[in-house]
Formats: sequence, structure tokens, C-alpha cells
Amino acid sequence: MKKVAKNATPAATVNAKNPPRILKFMHCPFCAHTDTSVLESRATQDGSSLRRRRECPKCRNRFTTYERVEGQILYCIKKDGRREPFDREKLRNGILKAIHKRPVSIEQVDQIVQEIEKDLIKSKISEIDTKKIGKAVLSRLKKLDQVAWLRFASVYLEFADLSDFESAIHKS
Ligand SMILES: [Zn+2]
Repeated sequence: MKKVAKNATPAATVNAKNPPRILKFMHCPFCAHTDTSVLESRATQDGSSLRRRRECPKCRNRFTTYERVEGQILYCIKKDGRREPFDREKLRNGILKAIHKRPVSIEQVDQIVQEIEKDLIKSKISEIDTKKIGKAVLSRLKKLDQVAWLRFASVYLEFADLSDFESAIHKS
């Protein structure tokens, strides 16, 4: 389940009074403001998703979101053998924590997540070892930033679970 921000406005409040280009329920990742304006929408090269360039009207930071068709559920097999649905947000958050204060942009993180997700979809498998996903992240992070790579690697080598990784990075 996705975490819902405390101040997120429920989707139900989006009505005819709101301009269609402003989504009330999408909040700004920088200041958590609940309005974002869509500057540009276009399909990604392979046509599998819609890329939206957004701007926060409050802090003026810009960010990108991707809208995809929900497909077949992919399961991750964790170190203890349990299965759980692949969660791109969890993966994204794990990488975001590894790049904290490092010269890697959110766009580059989104690119990594998108590439990994695309590879997973292309491979048409229904389950994957979380270790394989970790390795895929590491090989991409290594090209971008050594510190972020080390941070991800140190946690990844110890934990084969992305939620464990998230909490460990958070404590450090
Ligand atoms: Zn903002």
C-alpha cells in the first residue's frame, strides 16, 4: 500500500471547479504542497507510459511523474523466502535515500527505476529475487556516484529487503 501524506487532499475533492491541469492529490516532493501544475505531458519513447513535467506553484520546484498502465503483478522473493508485490515507490525511496546530498538528480533516480521496471516487464517473469533488483540498481548507481553506490551496496549486502534498507538508511 502507498503511504498517504497527512495533508494529502482526497481525490474525491477534485471536481469541476478545479482546472483539469491541476491535480489536487499529487503533492510536491519538495514541500508537500498539495497542488502541482502540469507543464508538459508526453508519451515515453516506447509508448508504455506518460511522462509529465510538473511544477509546484508554492516552492516552484519542478519534478517529473510517470503514468503507467497497471499490468500483471510482479512478486519479489525476499531473503527469508517471503513474496511481496514489486513496489516501485519503495525501490525509488531506497535509491533516493542513498543519493541524499549527493550529485544525483531525482530525474536520474526515476530513470533507474524506470529502466529496471521496463526490464522486468520485458522479461515477462512473474517473480524475481530482490537481490537481482539490488544488483541492477548497483550497476546503474556505480556509473553515477561512488558514495551513493557504496551506501546502497553496504545496506544491500546486509539486507535483501528494501524496507529494511529504507529504515537502515534512515537511522544512519
Ligand atoms: Zn513545493
